[in-house]
Amino acid sequence: MLIKPNEPLAGHTTFKIGGRAALFAEPENLYEVKELIGQAREKSQPFFILGAGSNLLVRDEGFDGIVISTRRLNRISRTDKYVLAESGALVSQILKFGVKYNLAGLEFLAGIPGSLGGVLLMNTGIKERSVSEVVAGIKALDENLEEVELIAAEASFSYRSSNLARFPFIVSASLEAKPVERNDEIKQKINAHISGRNNSQPGGYPSAGSIFKNPIGEAAGRLIESAGCKGWRQGGAVVSDKHANFILNVDNATAADVLGLIAKIREAVYDKFSVNLELEIKII
Ligand SMILES: Cc1cc2nc3c(=O)[nH]c(=O)nc-3n(C[C@H](O)[C@H](O)[C@H](O)COP(=O)(O)OP(=O)(O)OC[C@H]3O[C@@H](n4cnc5c(N)ncnc54)[C@H](O)[C@@H]3O)c2cc1C
Repeated sequence: MLIKPNEPLAGHTTFKIGGRAALFAEPENLYEVKELIGQAREKSQPFFILGAGSNLLVRDEGFDGIVISTRRLNRISRTDKYVLAESGALVSQILKFGVKYNLAGLEFLAGIPGSLGGVLLMNTGIKERSVSEVVAGIKALDENLEEVELIAAEASFSYRSSNLARFPFIVSASLEAKPVERNDEIKQKINAHISGRNNSQPGGYPSAGSIFKNPIGEAAGRLIESAGCKGWRQGGAVVSDKHANFILNVDNATAADVLGLIAKIREAVYDKFSVNLELEIKII
């Protein structure tokens, strides 16, 4: 297993921001995950599970504990109707697998840069659709580091939320997929979703996707735009001109720059609409 002390975390996040982890580990199997969590507990050290780091802002001070990356826990297999994937499998890898084995139904996730663990925890999706609609079962480690199996309903999925953070580790999940004769339509849908995203989302600079959740019946981006925040800049961080719910790291932004913008946006939106925007990204 790869273990590195004092590892810069910026390179492990899509925002490319953040300080160092006291210890950074890439376990290769569940046994090693249990060892790491066990050790952290013995030493009363905090630990953090890192997926693809695409919904994350790491503070400039870094993380004084063990960061456990799921990068190497990415095996994917199938039965006739299910794709079974470990939590570190990336959405892109799962979709590639679907194309290879003619398994359809997961294409709406195309272009989302996360891993399955993050996707499940966040109930990631687009507009009214989310991963919860294709999850059949989930395997996790409980507080005693025993493996437990859940059916989807036990994850209490709701908009960009689940109750899976109650488990120290999400191990794997089975996703419903439909066997089809040919994969042309799967490929077409994947391409359509990716080009739709390219048209609506800002590219070119590191980000963590949408910063805030959409309030019920509203789009956070619209509120932020109407409050006049588009283009606001603090240090190297800018509120995107294309999609106001994105903050872009345009020039070596620090976490403090991003947190400063977040506070100003919240204040502006509250002053204009009396709406408290809730964070979608996780801050560590
Ligand atoms: C350009 C861009 C576009 C995006 N578009 C969308 C979008 O359209 N829709 C959307 O919903 N999101 C979107 N996102 C946000 C992000 O991709 C999703 O939230 C994604 O599911 C996060 O997955 P991750 O693996 O990167 O999680 P991380 O950011 O690594 O972690 C997120 C949380 O999940 C936890 N976690 C991860 N794996 C495990 C595990 N195995 N066990 C326990 N906990 C775990 C982490 O501890 C953390 O609390 C976008 C992000 C970017 C950068």
